[in-house]
Amino acid sequence: MSSSGAEVVSSGVRPGQQNPADGSPLGELRWSTAAEVTAAIEKARAAQPGWAELSLDARAGKALLLARRIVERRAEIAKILSEETGRSLTECLMSEVVTGVGYAKGAIRAGRAALAPEKIKLSALEYPGKKVVVEAVPRGVIGIIAPWNYPLGNFMKSLYPALLSGNGVVLKPSEHTPRAGAWLAALCNEVFPPGLVQIVQGDGAIGQALLAGGVDGIVFTGSVATGKKVSVAAAERLIPASVELGGKDAAIVLADCDLVRTTAGIAFWAMHNCGQNCAGIERVYVEEAIADRFVEQLTKVCKAIRVNDDPSGAADAEIGPLQNAAQLAIVEAHVEEARQRGAAILCGGARTGKGLGYQATVVDKCDESMRVVSEETFGPVVAVIRVKDADEAIRRANDSRYGLNGSVWTSNLERGAALARRLEVGVALVNNHAFTGILPETPWTGVRDTGTGVAASRHAYPTFVRRRTVVVDSNKDPEPFWLPSTPELTALADTVAQLQLGSLGAAFRALGLIKKRVAAIKKLAGG
Ligand code: NDP
Repeated sequence: MSSSGAEVVSSGVRPGQQNPADGSPLGELRWSTAAEVTAAIEKARAAQPGWAELSLDARAGKALLLARRIVERRAEIAKILSEETGRSLTECLMSEVVTGVGYAKGAIRAGRAALAPEKIKLSALEYPGKKVVVEAVPRGVIGIIAPWNYPLGNFMKSLYPALLSGNGVVLKPSEHTPRAGAWLAALCNEVFPPGLVQIVQGDGAIGQALLAGGVDGIVFTGSVATGKKVSVAAAERLIPASVELGGKDAAIVLADCDLVRTTAGIAFWAMHNCGQNCAGIERVYVEEAIADRFVEQLTKVCKAIRVNDDPSGAADAEIGPLQNAAQLAIVEAHVEEARQRGAAILCGGARTGKGLGYQATVVDKCDESMRVVSEETFGPVVAVIRVKDADEAIRRANDSRYGLNGSVWTSNLERGAALARRLEVGVALVNNHAFTGILPETPWTGVRDTGTGVAASRHAYPTFVRRRTVVVDSNKDPEPFWLPSTPELTALADTVAQLQLGSLGAAFRALGLIKKRVAAIKKLAGG
């Protein structure tokens, strides 16, 4: 069962066994046992040292090969993604597959930046003969727990840095979308040394077993409640956890915006993947002066969206259904509550009547008393809140437990950038939204309940590597602060303080004192 306890389309069927677009059966897939989870970690651990011994160039070559194979075999994975999520083949290809080689190249660039040894410069007077380098050391085996909204993409953003760092990996897909992860793991087995990338299947209990079973770092994407459990379990074991827990992204529409670009952009980022995107636009704060025109245009675009009409892709259904029944129930409850509290449903507000489809929905005249404004809706629903001016918009947008992406839509780019910087989010944009989620070199991160995780970029690496400081000392003399203590040591302490404060003469005095100190230490140690 899912963590919510809901079944998928018809009762008695375990999650992940039906296409949510039409309820057609996908067949059973065996879940792992707790013992198999431990065994998977051990297999990855056994393969890891050999992998870590390879050069970064060699590991990068394999990562690129994986990306090429995925793109070459795009028809296979697109079919699986489409069946598991109900989205059209085109949407699956565009959002998770076709840009994979470019993504891997960027991930490798980020990896080179994060993994390069760092030489530390030391003062030759204070630290003679010392060479210091800070290195990146793989942690061992990394667990990656992914949700169902992007069953392939959610893995890729962490798989590359984990492997480039020299780690083994254990993947744990959502029980709702187990097949895409299984396909990826099988492909990894063809490309990487046998055993290096493992997969375990099952529900939250299997996720917990992964944490308890000995992984050395964990990447989690999903709900706030589960993310907290994962963080606690990781803290108990003192391993790093990167948690990315969704959002309630706001877009701010100013009266001077380009209405066509703004409407098209907001409609896309609100409805993409049926709104099941952690950085989907869920709240729009629009200046009163333009509100009527904006809402009219947005409704026109959303009304025209074809939802869940042909998952084969032949008719290019623009958005698929909700992925699971629990999600559909949340969306329906949020919209119904808004309706009852006086919001205006301008389009949608009902199921499509097929599978788990829900119509693209625009809800106008919303306020913070409604869950469409205060809680993650994770569906094809956009709430419009009318405001007096930009200051009110910023204040109300920041009044949220989440903070992933936030955007300001305006023709005044300078003012827009200044306003965007006032948004309490991890990714702030002007005249766009969320697209950096497919960039490998920009940190994907947030504030508050969005979690502390950093996905992608060189800034994601603390989860995948520990740092090791290596010192090689060629100084033949003993260090002047070693035993024994003499009056010259006291004088040296004062001279060092003067040196710190910029006295040039202190450097000469220090040299003389160091000589005396070294002689005293040699005399004691040399007998
Ligand atoms: P969960 O947080 O329950 O699931 C995310 C992943 O964690 C899944 O692989 C899940 O397995 C696994 N899991 C569940 N319980 C545990 C546990 N105790 N320890 C370790 N792993 C666990 O999210 P849901 O799928 O239930 O979605 C609920 C809400 O999460 C959505 O309504 C949405 O608000 C948010 N969400 C956010 C996403 C994001 O991108 N940040 C993506 C998806 C959802 P299994 O699915 O098999 O239970």
